[in-house]
Amino acid sequence: LSRLRRTEPSLRSFIHVAAAAAEREAEELDRRIASGGKDAVGPLAGVLVGVKDNLCTASMPSTGGSRILDGFQPAYDATAVRRLREAGAIVVGKTNLDEFGMGSTTEGSGFQVTTNPWDDSRVPGGSSGGSASAVSARQCVVSLGSDTGGSVRQPASFCGVVGLKPTYGRVSRFGLMAYASSLDVVGCFGSSVFDTATILSVIAGHDKMDSTSSSHDVPDYRSDLASLSLLESKPLNNVRIGIIQETLGEGVDAGVVSSIRSAASHLEQLGSVVQVSMPSFSLGLPAYYILASSEASSNLSRYDGIRYGQQVSADDLNEMYGDSRANGLGHEVKMRILMGTYALSAGYYDAYYKRAQQVRTLVKKSFEEALGKYDILISPAAPSAAYKIGEKTNDPLAMYAGDIMTVNVNMAGLPALVVPCGFVEGGSAGLPVGLQMIGSPFSEGSLLRVGHIFE
Ligand code: GLN
Repeated sequence: LSRLRRTEPSLRSFIHVAAAAAEREAEELDRRIASGGKDAVGPLAGVLVGVKDNLCTASMPSTGGSRILDGFQPAYDATAVRRLREAGAIVVGKTNLDEFGMGSTTEGSGFQVTTNPWDDSRVPGGSSGGSASAVSARQCVVSLGSDTGGSVRQPASFCGVVGLKPTYGRVSRFGLMAYASSLDVVGCFGSSVFDTATILSVIAGHDKMDSTSSSHDVPDYRSDLASLSLLESKPLNNVRIGIIQETLGEGVDAGVVSSIRSAASHLEQLGSVVQVSMPSFSLGLPAYYILASSEASSNLSRYDGIRYGQQVSADDLNEMYGDSRANGLGHEVKMRILMGTYALSAGYYDAYYKRAQQVRTLVKKSFEEALGKYDILISPAAPSAAYKIGEKTNDPLAMYAGDIMTVNVNMAGLPALVVPCGFVEGGSAGLPVGLQMIGSPFSEGSLLRVGHIFE
């Protein structure tokens, strides 16, 4: 907590810090241990967790990074948060994000700009930038984020921490403010693969409050790792790894390419790595932005000034809706709602939305094919290291282009793990680069095993 207090003025990872409540909860855990021993508390007793502010928490405000929800206090905890609390974890605060998850730098927050712990003139990535910077600066031990198109993986890469995007449906979305429901997943950050696996074991599993959550078995990801022997000479002998050629070509920083190549040769020493071609890889990006905006245009209709948060009073109902939204929503969110409404409108549906759905099917098929031959596909998590603050804010297309490595994975519903794998020049100590490992649905266990051996 004292580190959090010391570093927060420059990082601004949190929209809300609940330090006093955290101290009280810790004292309560101490009392329980004193009277009942260690078994009287859960396996995560006292572990400080940061929670992205688009996840509902009953004891703290939840804004989704939007002014329209300023002061909103939900009546319940999101399922992932409830499970962490039941395991004894202490939620230390709510982390900053791009408004409703729409963005790649956290500069799109309605409240503040978070800085990157490696270089305070740079962004932490986004949209879960606060959760990534908080773990990177050890303001908390682990954190929760959400990943619709890369929002856990890209900030993990920019901040040099581990980030996991689980399979669609692996973790309940109950209590996660919906951005694009067919793509959204709750993910987690840790400073090691082991910590990340520990959190996943707690938050994963079916939830009757989310009909899209899967009842697929939840392995004990953590003890799986603990039982691995890291002393074998070729511990990855049985794992077929493919490196996606198209992700190391034009538009990708040379430093990122060389970090990924050296990660691949490290993996090669532990097992085998083969080049794979996925020609449809670049098709995913435009399709993603059409689909995500379309779903957002429907999901965000709930922010009408009546049901939640801030209301601007007016004489008539339509004026009240209009003024509340004009006042409470930021520029990027408004743009996405307009884009999505346009793509779904009667005259343009076939040309945009339907076409994007067809591309989604293509992308999904190409992954199915590649993952039939390889257990894990690797790529960079982002085409560059962290951007300078302000570098991309006036150029939305350049901002969107930076998501090229991650969005396909959401369209195919696959799990992916990002682990730090190198540095490029920049800042005073270099800037971190993350390696993305993509697997078949529900293969989180193998991704974590390979990530653990790799790190
Ligand atoms: N940057 C992407 C977007 O703005 C991804 C965001 C996310 O995963 N929430 O849509």
